[in-house]
Amino acid sequence: MSNFTENHDINSALHAVRSELATAASAAQRSPEDVQLLAVSKRKPLAAIEAAWLAGQRAFGENYVDEALEKISAWQDKHPDTTPEWHFIGAIQSRKAAAIAQHFDWAHSVDRLKVAKKLNDNRPPSLPPLSVCIQVNLDAEDTKAGIALTDVATLAGQISELPALRLRGLMSIPAPRQTETEQRAVFRQLAQAQAAIKQAHPQLDTLSMGMSGDMTAAIAEGATIVRVGTAIFGARDG
Ligand SMILES: *Cc1c(COP(=O)(O)O)cnc(C)c1O
Repeated sequence: MSNFTENHDINSALHAVRSELATAASAAQRSPEDVQLLAVSKRKPLAAIEAAWLAGQRAFGENYVDEALEKISAWQDKHPDTTPEWHFIGAIQSRKAAAIAQHFDWAHSVDRLKVAKKLNDNRPPSLPPLSVCIQVNLDAEDTKAGIALTDVATLAGQISELPALRLRGLMSIPAPRQTETEQRAVFRQLAQAQAAIKQAHPQLDTLSMGMSGDMTAAIAEGATIVRVGTAIFGARDG
């Protein structure tokens, strides 16, 4: 572990986020182990990921394919005996889908069949199926990524036919809301949608929802993965 450098700020921020997660879980009568913390490291250097790793963090979320591939490959060169879990959480352009299928463990942001097929067709047979979530647009703004709630069941059916993908659940990035009550109301829609499609897909185990500003509300509504960037790594520039 000698080629890791500690970072006191990241270490203490991670501890604070873990404790916020645990508090939210117990307020919801849930076990903290049932909520995975995904550290969103977009636009942060490899050193930030290393510091988080040193503080015990194992799963990392990235949004931009080229930036992520650079970090993943640098990580493998530097720390070949370690295996972080890499989650792709950004918009998936279909020409980048092959790289995602080859280098990530998860893709949270699948919102169309064309992309799902590309991920499936390019997943190396030597790797386990790629875990995927369907990204849902809960705000009905057509500028935002994600499919409408009414289309989730159809896409879930199609994805579950693809052998190199493992459909895990639903993901959403709702627009910021002022109060926890409002935040919870939106997250509840995603939880209810997941419960509905679970009848046809009982293996679903993931609700990827909640970020730095709304993780408590998301956990109260059943989030199993919260994606937290700023609260761990600090503000991003640009
Ligand atoms: C950037 C990002 C996050 C983390 O957001 P913070 O507010 O920094 O915690 C989570 N999910 C997605 C999809 C993101 O793009």
